[in-house]
Amino acid sequence: MIASTAELARHGQAHGYAVAAVNILDNLSMRAVIDAAVEMSSPVIVQVSVKTVRFIGVDLMTRTFAAAATSAPVPVALHLDHCPDRRVIDEIVRAGWSSVLFDASDRELAQAESETAEVVALAHAAGVDVESEIENIIGMEDGVGSGVAVHSYPVDVLAEVAERTGADLLAPQLGTAHGEYKSSPVLLPERVRELARLTDRPIVLHGGTGLTESDFRSLIDAGVSKVNISTGLKLAYMKSALDHLSKAESTARWDPPSLFADITRAVKAEVVRYLEIFGSAGHAHGMRAVR
Ligand SMILES: [Zn+2]
Repeated sequence: MIASTAELARHGQAHGYAVAAVNILDNLSMRAVIDAAVEMSSPVIVQVSVKTVRFIGVDLMTRTFAAAATSAPVPVALHLDHCPDRRVIDEIVRAGWSSVLFDASDRELAQAESETAEVVALAHAAGVDVESEIENIIGMEDGVGSGVAVHSYPVDVLAEVAERTGADLLAPQLGTAHGEYKSSPVLLPERVRELARLTDRPIVLHGGTGLTESDFRSLIDAGVSKVNISTGLKLAYMKSALDHLSKAESTARWDPPSLFADITRAVKAEVVRYLEIFGSAGHAHGMRAVR
């Protein structure tokens, strides 16, 4: 069933777990993510980068998701990841996705706030939830982002801005970065706790790939209720494809459906692992369908 992103995250918040938001790349990985959630009786968020949705097309992506998610016996939401471009946000809101991440972290604070408020008004009128990012999370993801923290604010500013814009979910800096870590990140669970004391809006963790199970648990226990996974899935996808293709070359057996099956297996296993760590397994019930 298709569910609301904010409702899934609030359910996680109320029950001490985080919903995995997994960046998919195509219909294979989308189905693998949903299959993993079904197997674990878990809610899940299918997340799509602007680059991926541009490649596949909004209409095809929207319809593929609807076909895969409507009949799934677990709640699934469709979320647009980091998007600084208002025209793309408008298009996705019109397409009726569950939610968008309006990434205003490249704007100065006053501009970020006023634009986020406009995006929230437009999205809420269409029943679409908004994740808000006004501080930039370090690292590049599908061409969006920066290597340095250009904008960062005290947590009370984050909470006040969220109150004024009406954003549903908040993506603050938590010490993580996009991509693969070269050295261990210094995580900020205390910052999650401080922010959670000031606002009841769900808090989102970006840059989760490479964190240990106890890293995830400390941030989820502090109040994170949506965790984004992108790089981990890309690696599972590409490495399983490489394994398959190396074998195909050495055995001269070229069979695309068995390539697809191998990728699906690897991606699904990776997602199952996250659903177990984030504690969402077994929490598929008690949510309502929104579409
Ligand atoms: Zn991110």
